[in-house]
Amino acid sequence: MANSNDLRRLIRQTLELYRGMGLEQIPLVAASAEVAPAPASRAPVRETGGAALNKPRPTLSGAPWERSSRPGGAVPETPVPPASPATPFKTEPAALSPSPSLPRPAPAALPLQATRAERAAALSVLQQVVVGCQRCPELASARTNTVFGVGDAGAKILFLGEAPGADEDAQGEPFVGRAGQLLNDIITACRLKRDEIYICNVLKCRPPGNRTPLEGECSNCREFLDGQLAAIDPEYIVCWGTTAAQNLLQTKQPIGKLRQQFFRHGRAKVVCTYHPSYLLRNPPAKKDVWEDMKFWRLEMGVDLSQGKKSG
Ligand code: URA
Repeated sequence: MANSNDLRRLIRQTLELYRGMGLEQIPLVAASAEVAPAPASRAPVRETGGAALNKPRPTLSGAPWERSSRPGGAVPETPVPPASPATPFKTEPAALSPSPSLPRPAPAALPLQATRAERAAALSVLQQVVVGCQRCPELASARTNTVFGVGDAGAKILFLGEAPGADEDAQGEPFVGRAGQLLNDIITACRLKRDEIYICNVLKCRPPGNRTPLEGECSNCREFLDGQLAAIDPEYIVCWGTTAAQNLLQTKQPIGKLRQQFFRHGRAKVVCTYHPSYLLRNPPAKKDVWEDMKFWRLEMGVDLSQGKKSG
């Protein structure tokens, strides 16, 4: 539980954030209805079962989540290179400095001691703001649903994608289409469960025809992402694809250059890898993502090259 000074500061910051977003009244919401049931505490990384986990199968792309029965799944055999040595942790590279285009400073993270319920309540209020957002008229007029985010408000891991696609727009949940299925397989191979990760996108609305988000759309939505990051205050952020990585880190570096190293955002260690949609188009890149997952999970004390947790 946060102490009363922390809470007062938090409430002031949150209200200022919402006022800045043009919200004059806080809508009445049932916070508990907005988030998936969560485990009792901010627990250490949980190991989950599953045959593929304990015994990674050598597969065509070198990634253990590969299913040879997947339609169109025949990919050329590529040997998995040995795990790359740990890259030194990079702190605050120049590319991570705050963007001068951000109109307001990002909201401060909730106090570390904030409860899951407090985090969920902050997310829930923010979600109501997003539901009514009209900042990008083209996106707002075409959407079926806004796609805010899903998962544990107390998660120590946050996954950041690009923008909703057609399935996500229809269901109001991120990563539920084909790319989402692949993401689920990767999550399982990483010995995690989807509901212990908070998953969201840079954009909360689907760009028409799934085009790449425009810069202006990303900056319109950035405040919502910052609000989510402040509420959850994750320990690890995985950026899936160029849009997520470049937008979060405020850099123009290509995704290939951002892989295999840690950046810092707030207190979070950030790791970047290819987007699952890219993997669907380019299956040989799955082995690179698997290397990135091993690199990231090792930092969390989980050695995916071994059958069990390392630390
Ligand atoms: N691609 C994304 O980046 N996000 C989604 O939610 C779905 C597909």
